[in-house]
Amino acid sequence: MTQIEIVPCLSDNYAYLVKSGDQCAIVDPSEAAPVRAALARTGWKLTHILNTHHHLDHCGGNLDLKQETGAKIVGPGKDAARIPGLDIGVDESTGWEFDGRKVQVLEVPAHTKGAITFVIDGNAFTGDTLFTLGCGRLFEGDPQMMWTSLSKLMTLPDATQVWCGHEYTQSNGRFALTLEPGNGDLKARMDDVNAARAASKPTVPSTLGLEKKTNPFLRPDSAEIRKSLGMEKAGDVAVFGEIRARKDKF
Ligand code: ZN
Ligand code: FE
Repeated sequence: MTQIEIVPCLSDNYAYLVKSGDQCAIVDPSEAAPVRAALARTGWKLTHILNTHHHLDHCGGNLDLKQETGAKIVGPGKDAARIPGLDIGVDESTGWEFDGRKVQVLEVPAHTKGAITFVIDGNAFTGDTLFTLGCGRLFEGDPQMMWTSLSKLMTLPDATQVWCGHEYTQSNGRFALTLEPGNGDLKARMDDVNAARAASKPTVPSTLGLEKKTNPFLRPDSAEIRKSLGMEKAGDVAVFGEIRARKDKF
């Protein structure tokens, strides 16, 4: 059985403690202190540090935690030079193994060139590629590249739990409603999101199935979104690119 603990870091980042058997990984530790506290609280012993990409708000805690616990750092092999203390470089062909079971590694470039998603036991750790109700900014890629990466994530089963790198759901949802005000699933989800945030609760995880129904970045084929954008006849990549451009200015 896989246990997952959310570890809030910095102002709106999430790291995740993932425990299975006698192995325990932290995904995207932006800083060491909250992870240290979570380890003390749970009594779990850190064995691995996983990074979805090289940005400091995802690996800033790498070196301290490695020094304190001896945990091995696992991240995108293609970005070895930019991941502090990387021990094990992985990619789609190598995958990885955690507590004796296969971990799927999906290469999802565009937010950064080396970005990866780890899929552990039905849980996708998507970093800043797929957010709940959003997607990451295109710092090192273009709309075509991000759409290809998101399409790859969409091939995972709908029941896949989505654990992303930031608590952005509420503002993402406000933007989503400007494009698709008639999406009943989106409206219902936003009621849940608003209630969770009012109670200072996290809005992760969601499921891939729910994202497909409500996340505009996975819905460039939506007739309502296309109408909102005046792009009824455009291709998916062009519509996706326009959604991303509008979100950048939202
Ligand atoms: Zn990032
Ligand atoms: Fe980030």
